[in-house]
Amino acid sequence: MYIGRFAPSPSGHLHFGSLVTAIGCYLRAKSLNGKFIVRIEDIDTQRCSSDNAQSIITSLQNISLYSDEPIVYQSHRHKIYQKFLDYLIAKDYTYNCQCTRAQLKQRPCPCEHLQLQGNGPYNICFKANLFMSDYFEDKLLGTIKRQNDAQLQHVVLKRKDNIFAYNLCVVCDDILQNITEVVRGFDLLNMTFVHLALYKALNHQAPDFLHLPLAINEQGVKYSKQNHAKAVILEKNSQQVLKEVLCFLDQNILDLDFSQSCDSILKQASLNFKLDKIAHHSKVFIY
Ligand SMILES: [Zn+2]
Repeated sequence: MYIGRFAPSPSGHLHFGSLVTAIGCYLRAKSLNGKFIVRIEDIDTQRCSSDNAQSIITSLQNISLYSDEPIVYQSHRHKIYQKFLDYLIAKDYTYNCQCTRAQLKQRPCPCEHLQLQGNGPYNICFKANLFMSDYFEDKLLGTIKRQNDAQLQHVVLKRKDNIFAYNLCVVCDDILQNITEVVRGFDLLNMTFVHLALYKALNHQAPDFLHLPLAINEQGVKYSKQNHAKAVILEKNSQQVLKEVLCFLDQNILDLDFSQSCDSILKQASLNFKLDKIAHHSKVFIY
């Protein structure tokens, strides 16, 4: 059975870009008679808050996006991530790193060769090069070639300050929730090579990946919480917002009746869903 997930990080409210991903993920899952799961990626407790998590869930509900399984919170799953990390350490797929963020901005990390031992504190990093491939097949975009990127050379799994990194948690959760396909934004395209390397290291079959276009502003910058993208307010105008998202995803909206409830619009839209209509590039969206 197809199982997809929408996994927002509650470092802010739901904005248009994340809503595109949520609805793209929902339509893809429902068009294949699959499940749609919501997971809250709140592992970085310094940046995330439970108020934001609740606001995201409420926004999703206002547009009739409900998780088919109980919502999982990463902040409750430290023991699980530690088990996966212990496995990778035991296999010698990790190294200790003593670099600070400021140092990493100035130079590459030299620590893999230093073989640092002792108590640390250390960042625990993944020897991604052992497993990294050059290409993968994206379900929307076709063959993707790996771009050289410093991010792929220094993959932290657990930070010095004891916070598990996104890259580890996302793979562990996708494995444990039996996700068959990951639908998310273009911005994570190159990081997919790290995630695929982790699947190999964990000796687990990877899901399929499908990367959706990003909503960008007139300056070509992605809407994100970091640049304080406006929250989408979904109380009175949710049908209108839904229409804008469906247009952004290049779906045919002529057959849809936007005076109906979001639930019935979404049902019809998933019956009509055409993956091959979706653009292969980011698109300017003004709101
Ligand atoms: Zn280092």
